[in-house]
Amino acid sequence: MEKGTIIKNISNQYVVLMENGDERLCVAMGKLRQDRKPLVGDYVQVEKFEHQDGIQKIEERKNYLLRPAIANVDQALIVMSSKDPDFSTVLVDRLIFLISLANITPVLCVSKMDLVSDDDPIHEAINDYRKSGYEVYVSGTDFDEEALIACFNHKITVLTGQSGAGKSSLLNRINPGFELHTQAISKALGRGKHTTRHCQLYPIGQGWVADTPGFSSLDFSRLELSDLAKAIPDFKEVSAKCRFRDCVHLNEPDCAVKQGVENKEVSAIRYQNYVDLTNLIKQNKTKF
Ligand code: ZN
Repeated sequence: MEKGTIIKNISNQYVVLMENGDERLCVAMGKLRQDRKPLVGDYVQVEKFEHQDGIQKIEERKNYLLRPAIANVDQALIVMSSKDPDFSTVLVDRLIFLISLANITPVLCVSKMDLVSDDDPIHEAINDYRKSGYEVYVSGTDFDEEALIACFNHKITVLTGQSGAGKSSLLNRINPGFELHTQAISKALGRGKHTTRHCQLYPIGQGWVADTPGFSSLDFSRLELSDLAKAIPDFKEVSAKCRFRDCVHLNEPDCAVKQGVENKEVSAIRYQNYVDLTNLIKQNKTKF
């Protein structure tokens, strides 16, 4: 059986990019339709029948998102501007936490860097993310974007970040004519309900990007603090040395993360944003 990746979903049909480079229009075979619908990003087995091609099996997903409905996302590119709107580590970190909870790698792109001076505090914030191990790209008028373009190679990327940060124009510079759809809200029949748009993957550099941004609502409800503590990349390595295995790094004794903040192994910014978020979650403030 041949294998490929679903790059587009049109009602009940799927465009599958086969390993040999062909695109084939397929339907989901009966068992799949009932159990688990294929998603864009799924790696699937395709069988050729007399009248059509059918998806027989979906390979195991490494992760999936519901909005946009997409599987096997390698990274989420957080696009944040340095100015207008102002850069906020609180917002970036909340996105980093949500993305990491979804088992996706967060990558940061700071746009409009031509608007800041050399002594702007944003440089310190960027260094802090790099020191913590995050990939950070900067962009702006007359900036060399070769490294940023290369970060899409061989990956499925979802874009996120505040509106006005220039997500669409960034993609447009890389792939002229690219159109990024923002979450469409249908006002049809005055019901104002959310339309479920189908997601599509577009080639970018030598990789793929979803045409719909992800993580547009910062929703921390239905979340265990211990899961949040475990997901944060900054804490992962040092937390192995916490006295308690289920340590959430707040009031526990012998906490290696708190120790790490003190001797500057762990970012104090990330830790503070984590503590503030846990306090909000305790007050049931979970949507931002
Ligand atoms: Zn701890």
